[in-house]
Amino acid sequence: MEKGWTLIRGGQVVRGGTVSRQDVLFQGERIAAIGELSDSRAAVVIDADGLLVLPGAVDTHVHLNDVFMGTVSVHDYYTGTRAAAYGGVTSIVDFSNQVPGGALARTLEDKREEASGMALVDWGVHPVITEPNQATLDQIPYVVAAGAPTIKCYMTYREDGLLTEDEDLKKIAVHLGEAGGMLMLHAEDNDMIEENVPRLIEQGKTAPIYHARSKPPEVETEAIRRIVGMAEETGARFFVVHLASADGLDLITGARERGLRITAETCTHYLIFTDEMLEREDGIKWICSPPLRDAETQDRLWMALGDDRIAMVSSDDAAYSWEAKLLGVDRFDRCPNGIPGIEPRFHLLYSEGVAKGRLTLPRFVEIVSTAPANLFGLAPRKGSLAVGADADIILFDPEARWTMGGDTLHMATDWSAYEDIEMVGRILKVFSRGELIVDGEECMAEKGRGRYIHRTLLDPRHAAG
Ligand code: MN
Ligand code: MN
Repeated sequence: MEKGWTLIRGGQVVRGGTVSRQDVLFQGERIAAIGELSDSRAAVVIDADGLLVLPGAVDTHVHLNDVFMGTVSVHDYYTGTRAAAYGGVTSIVDFSNQVPGGALARTLEDKREEASGMALVDWGVHPVITEPNQATLDQIPYVVAAGAPTIKCYMTYREDGLLTEDEDLKKIAVHLGEAGGMLMLHAEDNDMIEENVPRLIEQGKTAPIYHARSKPPEVETEAIRRIVGMAEETGARFFVVHLASADGLDLITGARERGLRITAETCTHYLIFTDEMLEREDGIKWICSPPLRDAETQDRLWMALGDDRIAMVSSDDAAYSWEAKLLGVDRFDRCPNGIPGIEPRFHLLYSEGVAKGRLTLPRFVEIVSTAPANLFGLAPRKGSLAVGADADIILFDPEARWTMGGDTLHMATDWSAYEDIEMVGRILKVFSRGELIVDGEECMAEKGRGRYIHRTLLDPRHAAG
């Protein structure tokens, strides 16, 4: 089925670190040409004068249908990808936990079932290993070959059955490295947390702020110190998810300077909120792990994003209902950790990053689209505007002013952590594989149109080994 030609004319196009006025032509699902194309005829011509033309955003850290701390996230493959689409996200990669007694390969089958007939945008899977036995290790090459070369493990959440010990992490990293993959780690030291939580509870310190006190930066730094050791010992490739500590950042920066293969992301909420939110009466909204930090840490995260010590930003969307969050109202340790954020990431990072002068426009595109696509093997089809790439395109008005709040967002949660935030810049249209899926306030994407993304990591250093 041929969908004809569309020409986006005269917009400011961001490509490979530069911004210039160009036309973008696409036919069917792929970009056909970029440049001065005023002679080309297209059935649909969109005037983008004064607008930015950007690659669709890529969010490689979301938890759809996630069963955690006695509840399940309300973002499924329909509601989650619908909110994503409104936020300019045309590709997601979701975590799939290995179920007790289940084969690792089942993590992919489970998500295929959840996405079938539901997903509006393209999606991939990170398997999460919870049972690091020989059978699991043996299946690593299989999941990598099936397009899921990035596997995640947790260094905490022992009581939720998620923790993996360092000796097993090293084995997984080596197997994964041999297969051409990368190990993602949730870096928090479990022993420190298991010591802090009961002590605080016993002292009657049960309010939301004590969640952050139970997981001070040292909890994260200690886990990152161990990851650096594992990278040294194995030579394997590691990715630290949701980095939120200044000392952890310094450890990773130092390790990278020594040639170790460790990359890190941070998440939207660490750049927007500080731990002051946890002091509010409705502080449970901001309980997440690692916890929100102080303003100084936040400044350092922004700086590190600017100069590529932190490679990218993901949402860590974990959308629990208000009823579920209330489990923690009198006991911080019972609150499901997570903030719904699949939709606002792109807008917030533009407004707080580019409009406030913390990020250049090309760097913004890199951290929301290009770097996640490259690091997680969605490139070259995703993450940048290039001939032959998927026509995943955002038309963006950089001058629009509006106020973000629960009433402007489309996430499935019945509450919002993002309220009354003055915004600069707004998405006008979103195309996914050439199809207009969001036009202003309207989402036209058909349920189930989203496709599985078969990912392959590109790393010249791996080819040599
Ligand atoms: Mn995590
Ligand atoms: Mn997460």
